[in-house]
Amino acid sequence: MLVIAFIPLSLLLLAAGFLVVAHVSGFVQSSRYNQRQNFSNMVIQRYMERIALAQGQLYQRKQELEAMSSKLSLSNQELGRLNEMKSKFLSMVVHDVRTPLASIRGFSELLAKRTGGVKETAYLKSIISSTDQLGHLISDLTDLAMIEAGKLKMEKATFEFYAMAADVLPGIAINAQKKGVELLVYELPAGTLVDGDKFRLSQVFMNLVNNAIKFTPSGKKVEISFRREGRYITTLVRDAGIGIHPSETRKIFEKFYQAKYQKDQKLRKLGWGLGLSIAQEIVRSHDGEIGASSPGLGKGSTFYFKVPALS
Ligand code: ADP
Repeated sequence: MLVIAFIPLSLLLLAAGFLVVAHVSGFVQSSRYNQRQNFSNMVIQRYMERIALAQGQLYQRKQELEAMSSKLSLSNQELGRLNEMKSKFLSMVVHDVRTPLASIRGFSELLAKRTGGVKETAYLKSIISSTDQLGHLISDLTDLAMIEAGKLKMEKATFEFYAMAADVLPGIAINAQKKGVELLVYELPAGTLVDGDKFRLSQVFMNLVNNAIKFTPSGKKVEISFRREGRYITTLVRDAGIGIHPSETRKIFEKFYQAKYQKDQKLRKLGWGLGLSIAQEIVRSHDGEIGASSPGLGKGSTFYFKVPALS
């Protein structure tokens, strides 16, 4: 009887034990799951807070940027207006100076022819050379004003390239002779045609050669040569003058820039640092290229410009 009662009783106890173990393990698992869930929620919330903060900062930056860009556009408008005023002022001054200058030069030449006095003649020559210098500055300033206003137009036509150089060489040769610089020209055989503004390209040519003469001491040489390179015709002007520091061979093409490493103040005073920047503009308008190289100060320089040729 006791044995009969013991078997179901022990089975019942075993089942109860299983039930308790199952409940406890279920409870432990669910509390672990809840812990993990809470942790993930916390992480998500932190990220959300950070995103909200970043969004706030982004909005603030956007507003700052908008304010800055509207200030910039106002400054740009102001700059444009000032630039226009400067160009107008420049062309007015240039126009009003040119006419009296021409009459000073004309009358000085007349007086120089009539006067017999040595001193008077010397004074009048000095007036004439000063008016020439001023005239040169005025034409450079006129070109600069036109470049800045986008009005420097090239009047292109087909011409013989060497004829352009040959036209201006006699005047340049007189300059070289006065300075005591030997001028060597390696002629370009006839037949190279260029479609361009002959007057403007001869201005570039004269600028390079006159600079070479200016920066070369008496007794030394300036050589002019020409080279056909593919579809381009290149003009090279090589001098044995004061040379250029390597850091300045590009800067000298900026407007109003005069080489700082060159010590000769007298030479600097003879110019305004405009010729090369104007020459660069002209060459670029012909889809060409201009540049300079020098082995260093005191070792001479070579300037070149190249433009496309037709034949
Ligand atoms: P500038 O009227 O002063 O000569 P440019 O624009 O023609 O103006 O030349 C700018 C500067 O480049 C000159 O002031 C000079 O310092 C330098 N430069 C030009 N040509 C030569 C050269 N052949 N040799 C040495 N330096 C030169």
